[in-house]
Amino acid sequence: MLSPTIPALRNLVGGTLVDGVDGAQRDIVNPATGEVVARVPEGTQADVERAIEAAQAARIGWRDTTPGQRMELLLALADAVDAHAAELAALESLNVGKPMSLALEELPICSDELRFFAGAARTLSAPTAGEYAAGYTSMVRREPLGIVGQIAPWNYPLMMAIWKIAPALAAGNVVVLKPSELTPISTLRFAELAAEILPPGVLNVITGDGPGVGVGIVRHRAIAMVSLTGSVPTGKDIARAAADTLKRVHLELGGKAPVIVLDDADPKAVAEGLRVASFLNSGQDCTAAARVLAGPGIYDALLEELVPAVRSLKMGDPADGDAIEMGPVISARQQEKVLGYLDRATSAGAEVLTGGSAGSDRGFFVEPTIVVGVGQDAEIVQQELFGPVVTVQRLDDVNDAVAMANDVPYGLAASVWTRDVGKALDAVRRLDFGCVWVNDHLPFLSEMPHGGFKESGYGKDLSVYALDDYTRVKHAMVRLD
Ligand code: NAD
Repeated sequence: MLSPTIPALRNLVGGTLVDGVDGAQRDIVNPATGEVVARVPEGTQADVERAIEAAQAARIGWRDTTPGQRMELLLALADAVDAHAAELAALESLNVGKPMSLALEELPICSDELRFFAGAARTLSAPTAGEYAAGYTSMVRREPLGIVGQIAPWNYPLMMAIWKIAPALAAGNVVVLKPSELTPISTLRFAELAAEILPPGVLNVITGDGPGVGVGIVRHRAIAMVSLTGSVPTGKDIARAAADTLKRVHLELGGKAPVIVLDDADPKAVAEGLRVASFLNSGQDCTAAARVLAGPGIYDALLEELVPAVRSLKMGDPADGDAIEMGPVISARQQEKVLGYLDRATSAGAEVLTGGSAGSDRGFFVEPTIVVGVGQDAEIVQQELFGPVVTVQRLDDVNDAVAMANDVPYGLAASVWTRDVGKALDAVRRLDFGCVWVNDHLPFLSEMPHGGFKESGYGKDLSVYALDDYTRVKHAMVRLD
């Protein structure tokens, strides 16, 4: 019997907090302990229909607001996030198992993104109106799409939701958003705050899993665009399903970011960078530094710095205090998946230099792990694990670095570490990834686009490119006589 003190959270539909239509609930678990910390509605198609009806009712009113009015409301949302930052961070830490320090760092980023899109709402641009044919004036209107369906992942639940909600609302769309069934708590709390600020039906948040709710959003005729942040297989399913109604699809999918370390790089700086970039959020980051390609002249020196740096990471339950730097992975299933990759890699001859096991009987932990002795074709090099594991490959010939970096199905992010600006820029040009860092790995900005190539998907989050993705352009041609 569950404790009656476990909170039962509600969806936001049409400006009102509501239980699911059929009343079923799902337990939400703290991955650091395995304990149930909340219950949320377990949605069905009936919840999808109700949310779309509410969005439909709000659509025209929101479309007809001015950019300046939308800006004011997005700024109010940003202020609400700031005012509740500690509370939202605590929910994020509890539900994702991330250290409180990391969760607290994410909140100002969330409010900054809301503020960026508040301002960007007033900057939509298009070609100049004019007489492109004699006797006619042509102009381009940039319009919202209508109802946008948005589906979020579990790794940065609130931030990923805001990456989606902010540009969509700024452009004048209304939203039906489904958080991950594993981590809906912070987004539901954000929805409660939004209910006090936004007109009813402009933002609707409904919980449930992919088959129960996600599929219904994707297939619905009233939804003009579906935007997913999630795994590559889910992205492919959604693109296939969306083809039936030819709705627009925006896909931010997985990655397997390479880190090219040329012989002239500073091994200590690279190790310090990887200590963060490979293990932040337990490596559950689509841009995590997952596979290092090190030149022959720096390989040994890099490992001498990297192994103790990674061993020094303090793993544990974030509730145990500020010293904890890395929490668990999200679920027993994810833990099994990551440990399975490690087992198969070592059976095939790979060597684990540190980590390699769960390291705790309680919760869903995987120790921070470094793997060497792997070939380019190994599954641990080719596939996204989404856990605290980095492979380090020795380059026999540094000229192969870019080709090896590009030789995976993904194309989200990459980095190159060198003091030679010419080599760095040449690598930037040739790397097939949506973001390339030089002498760093992981930072992102509200003003700059984030999104992948190849099987990492298409469409951009952040920046004015995201705003463009949530609009359509219409040519209006007026005869003058
Ligand atoms: P997932 O694909 O399992 O689930 C993502 C969301 O899709 C969830 O809300 C889920 O319920 C829903 N879903 C699942 N199947 C669906 C279907 N058939 N139709 C509609 N919705 C469906 O991904 P996840 O495990 O939650 O997140 C981890 C993945 O997300 C990783 O691959 C990671 O790289 C990726 N990710 C990418 C970015 C990026 O910006 N590119 C950012 C964060 C995470």
